[in-house]
Amino acid sequence: MAIRKIREYGDEVLEAVCRPVTKMTPHTRELIEDMFDTMYDANGVGLAAPQVGVLRRICVIDVTGEDPYVLINPRIVETSGEQTGNEGCLSVPNKTGVVTRPSYVKVIAQNIDMEEFELEGTELLARAICHETDHLDGIVYVTKVEGELHDVRALEMEEEEDQEEEE
Ligand code: ZN
Repeated sequence: MAIRKIREYGDEVLEAVCRPVTKMTPHTRELIEDMFDTMYDANGVGLAAPQVGVLRRICVIDVTGEDPYVLINPRIVETSGEQTGNEGCLSVPNKTGVVTRPSYVKVIAQNIDMEEFELEGTELLARAICHETDHLDGIVYVTKVEGELHDVRALEMEEEEDQEEEE
Protein backbone atom coordinates (compact mmCIF):
# COMPACT_ATOMS: atom_id res chain seq x y z
CA MET A 1 0.00 0.00 0.00
CA ALA A 2 1.39 3.33 -1.01
CA ILE A 3 -0.20 6.70 -0.61
CA ARG A 4 0.86 9.21 -3.22
CA LYS A 5 0.93 12.97 -2.77
CA ILE A 6 -2.22 14.62 -4.13
CA ARG A 7 -1.46 17.64 -6.28
CA GLU A 8 -3.46 20.73 -5.44
CA TYR A 9 -5.27 23.19 -7.69
CA GLY A 10 -2.76 25.68 -9.06
CA ASP A 11 -0.30 22.89 -9.92
CA GLU A 12 0.05 22.98 -13.71
CA VAL A 13 -0.08 19.16 -13.93
CA LEU A 14 -3.85 19.49 -13.28
CA GLU A 15 -4.33 21.61 -16.40
CA ALA A 16 -2.63 19.28 -18.87
CA VAL A 17 -4.34 16.91 -21.29
CA CYS A 18 -3.39 13.31 -20.42
CA ARG A 19 -2.05 10.73 -22.89
CA PRO A 20 -3.82 7.42 -23.57
CA VAL A 21 -2.63 4.19 -22.00
CA THR A 22 -1.56 1.84 -24.79
CA LYS A 23 -0.60 -1.24 -22.78
CA MET A 24 -0.73 -2.46 -19.21
CA THR A 25 2.62 -2.69 -17.46
CA PRO A 26 3.63 -3.59 -13.88
CA HIS A 27 4.40 0.09 -13.41
CA THR A 28 0.88 1.11 -14.44
CA ARG A 29 -0.70 -1.62 -12.26
CA GLU A 30 1.21 -0.25 -9.30
CA LEU A 31 0.05 3.27 -10.15
CA ILE A 32 -3.60 2.08 -10.17
CA GLU A 33 -3.22 0.29 -6.81
CA ASP A 34 -1.65 3.41 -5.34
CA MET A 35 -4.46 5.56 -6.77
CA PHE A 36 -7.06 3.41 -4.95
CA ASP A 37 -5.01 3.56 -1.72
CA THR A 38 -4.64 7.32 -2.06
CA MET A 39 -8.33 7.86 -2.80
CA TYR A 40 -9.54 5.72 0.14
CA ASP A 41 -6.98 7.29 2.49
CA ALA A 42 -8.33 10.74 1.59
CA ASN A 43 -11.99 9.60 1.87
CA GLY A 44 -12.59 10.49 -1.77
CA VAL A 45 -15.00 8.89 -4.24
CA GLY A 46 -12.74 9.37 -7.26
CA LEU A 47 -9.19 10.16 -8.26
CA ALA A 48 -7.56 10.78 -11.63
CA ALA A 49 -3.92 10.05 -12.50
CA PRO A 50 -2.95 13.73 -12.99
CA GLN A 51 -3.97 14.32 -9.36
CA VAL A 52 -0.96 12.19 -8.38
CA GLY A 53 1.20 13.82 -11.06
CA VAL A 54 0.87 11.21 -13.83
CA LEU A 55 -0.41 12.43 -17.20
CA ARG A 56 -2.15 9.24 -18.28
CA ARG A 57 -5.85 8.66 -19.02
CA ILE A 58 -6.65 6.64 -15.90
CA CYS A 59 -9.14 7.29 -13.13
CA VAL A 60 -10.47 5.32 -10.19
CA ILE A 61 -13.97 5.72 -8.80
CA ASP A 62 -15.80 4.21 -5.83
CA VAL A 63 -18.90 6.09 -4.76
CA THR A 64 -20.14 3.53 -2.20
CA GLY A 65 -16.86 2.33 -0.67
CA GLU A 66 -17.44 -1.19 -2.00
CA ASP A 67 -17.85 -0.77 -5.74
CA PRO A 68 -14.44 0.14 -7.16
CA TYR A 69 -13.93 0.90 -10.84
CA VAL A 70 -10.78 1.71 -12.73
CA LEU A 71 -11.47 3.52 -15.98
CA ILE A 72 -8.63 3.48 -18.49
CA ASN A 73 -8.98 5.67 -21.59
CA PRO A 74 -12.62 6.45 -20.68
CA ARG A 75 -14.95 8.01 -23.26
CA ILE A 76 -18.36 9.32 -22.32
CA VAL A 77 -20.63 8.14 -25.13
CA GLU A 78 -24.07 9.07 -23.85
CA THR A 79 -25.55 11.50 -21.33
CA SER A 80 -29.02 12.59 -20.40
CA GLY A 81 -30.86 14.66 -17.85
CA GLU A 82 -29.42 17.14 -15.43
CA GLN A 83 -28.49 17.28 -11.76
CA THR A 84 -27.35 20.33 -9.85
CA GLY A 85 -25.52 19.86 -6.59
CA ASN A 86 -22.42 20.30 -4.50
CA GLU A 87 -19.18 18.87 -5.73
CA GLY A 88 -15.72 18.65 -4.21
CA CYS A 89 -12.27 17.53 -5.29
CA LEU A 90 -9.31 16.05 -3.43
CA SER A 91 -7.12 18.59 -5.26
CA VAL A 92 -9.17 21.48 -3.85
CA PRO A 93 -9.24 20.56 -0.16
CA ASN A 94 -12.02 21.70 2.15
CA LYS A 95 -13.95 23.45 -0.62
CA THR A 96 -17.23 22.71 -2.32
CA GLY A 97 -19.20 24.33 -5.11
CA VAL A 98 -22.38 23.80 -7.10
CA VAL A 99 -21.98 22.14 -10.50
CA THR A 100 -24.64 20.98 -12.95
CA ARG A 101 -23.91 17.59 -14.51
CA PRO A 102 -25.92 15.04 -16.50
CA SER A 103 -28.05 12.77 -14.31
CA TYR A 104 -27.18 9.76 -16.48
CA VAL A 105 -23.85 8.94 -18.10
CA LYS A 106 -22.66 5.99 -20.17
CA VAL A 107 -18.91 5.58 -20.44
CA ILE A 108 -16.77 3.13 -22.41
CA ALA A 109 -13.38 2.41 -20.87
CA GLN A 110 -10.78 -0.31 -20.51
CA ASN A 111 -10.26 -2.28 -17.33
CA ILE A 112 -6.96 -3.28 -15.72
CA ASP A 113 -6.60 -6.08 -18.30
CA MET A 114 -7.15 -3.51 -21.06
CA GLU A 115 -10.51 -5.09 -21.94
CA GLU A 116 -13.19 -2.69 -23.03
CA PHE A 117 -16.29 -2.42 -20.85
CA GLU A 118 -19.28 -0.18 -20.54
CA LEU A 119 -20.42 1.50 -17.35
CA GLU A 120 -23.66 3.36 -16.77
CA GLY A 121 -24.04 5.73 -13.86
CA THR A 122 -26.75 7.87 -12.35
CA GLU A 123 -26.71 10.34 -9.46
CA LEU A 124 -23.31 10.43 -7.68
CA LEU A 125 -21.72 7.87 -10.02
CA ALA A 126 -22.69 9.95 -13.07
CA ARG A 127 -21.25 13.04 -11.38
CA ALA A 128 -18.02 11.22 -10.47
CA ILE A 129 -17.55 9.87 -14.01
CA CYS A 130 -17.90 13.39 -15.43
CA HIS A 131 -15.65 14.94 -12.80
CA GLU A 132 -12.88 12.37 -13.21
CA THR A 133 -12.92 12.26 -17.02
CA ASP A 134 -12.73 16.09 -16.97
CA HIS A 135 -9.46 15.77 -15.02
CA LEU A 136 -7.98 13.78 -17.92
CA ASP A 137 -8.56 16.79 -20.17
CA GLY A 138 -7.03 19.21 -17.69
CA ILE A 139 -10.39 20.48 -16.42
CA VAL A 140 -10.83 21.04 -12.68
CA TYR A 141 -14.43 21.40 -11.46
CA VAL A 142 -13.84 24.88 -10.03
CA THR A 143 -14.01 26.24 -13.59
CA LYS A 144 -17.59 24.89 -13.82
CA VAL A 145 -18.85 26.07 -10.44
CA GLU A 146 -22.03 28.13 -10.43
CA GLY A 147 -21.48 30.99 -8.00
CA GLU A 148 -18.68 30.75 -5.48
CA LEU A 149 -16.65 28.02 -3.88
CA HIS A 150 -17.62 27.51 -0.25
CA ASP A 151 -15.58 26.41 2.68
CA VAL A 152 -16.70 22.93 3.76
CA ARG A 153 -15.94 23.58 7.41
CA ALA A 154 -18.02 26.76 7.45
CA LEU A 155 -20.96 24.87 5.92
CA GLU A 156 -20.64 22.07 8.49
CA MET A 157 -20.59 24.60 11.33
CA GLU A 158 -23.72 26.26 9.98
CA GLU A 159 -25.46 22.91 9.88
CA GLU A 160 -24.43 22.20 13.48
CA GLU A 161 -25.79 25.58 14.55
CA ASP A 162 -29.08 24.85 12.77
CA GLN A 163 -29.37 21.55 14.60
CA GLU A 164 -28.77 23.24 17.93
CA GLU A 165 -31.54 25.71 17.22
CA GLU A 166 -33.93 22.89 16.50
CA GLU A 167 -33.33 21.21 19.85
ZN1 ZN B 1 -11.22 16.14 -8.71
